Amino acid sequence: MSPEELALAKKWVETWNTTGPILEKIRREELRKLDTFKTISHLCGPIDFTQEPFRPKPTSGLVEQQKWFMKARNMDSFLQAAIDEAKKGLAAGGIPIGSVLVCDGKIIGRGHNQRVQHGSVIHHAEMNCLENAGRLKASVYEKCTLYSTLSPCPMCSGAALLYKIPRIIVGENQTFQGPEEYVRSQGVKVEILQNPDCIKLMRDFIAARPELWNEDIGV
Ligand SMILES: [Zn+2]
Repeated sequence: MSPEELALAKKWVETWNTTGPILEKIRREELRKLDTFKTISHLCGPIDFTQEPFRPKPTSGLVEQQKWFMKARNMDSFLQAAIDEAKKGLAAGGIPIGSVLVCDGKIIGRGHNQRVQHGSVIHHAEMNCLENAGRLKASVYEKCTLYSTLSPCPMCSGAALLYKIPRIIVGENQTFQGPEEYVRSQGVKVEILQNPDCIKLMRDFIAARPELWNEDIGV
């Protein structure tokens, strides 16, 4: 065995010694107590969050499966942060749509629809989120994923295209559908999750306040 191979083997043993207990915890469904981003980085190295998580085949190794599972779970936690924003907006008498901007596995901006609260015609959830994230360089936007509880309208989709955000994850598009196909045609990955919480938030709101909703989408 060459010194390089020996060093590599040693590294693997060390990695497994450290990650073994972590994997065991995951199996016991104690994921909530872990800092998932740190754990993923530890297991897999830096992750490019602009790429789709690799869905492993049933025959894939444990690490591949764990990688996918944890990354998928992290995606859930980002959507959950957007849902929390939507609920914050609803509690303040606004339209329940929320959004977060994620870069390198971290939330760098949050926002929700402020149309009612601020009498604003432009602060849709995604616009509010981008505004709250502040001025960013193109090199940051190109690594970002924009999460929204609802399919982005033409204005918000336009902002995402302007800043060349490469990936948009959408909670649902059953109650409203923005120009998703156009956005995809511009090279942006758009993923629709049809999340039941997002659908319920909007269905309940539209039933309760149809006039406010129509105003929001220019109907
Ligand atoms: Zn919008």
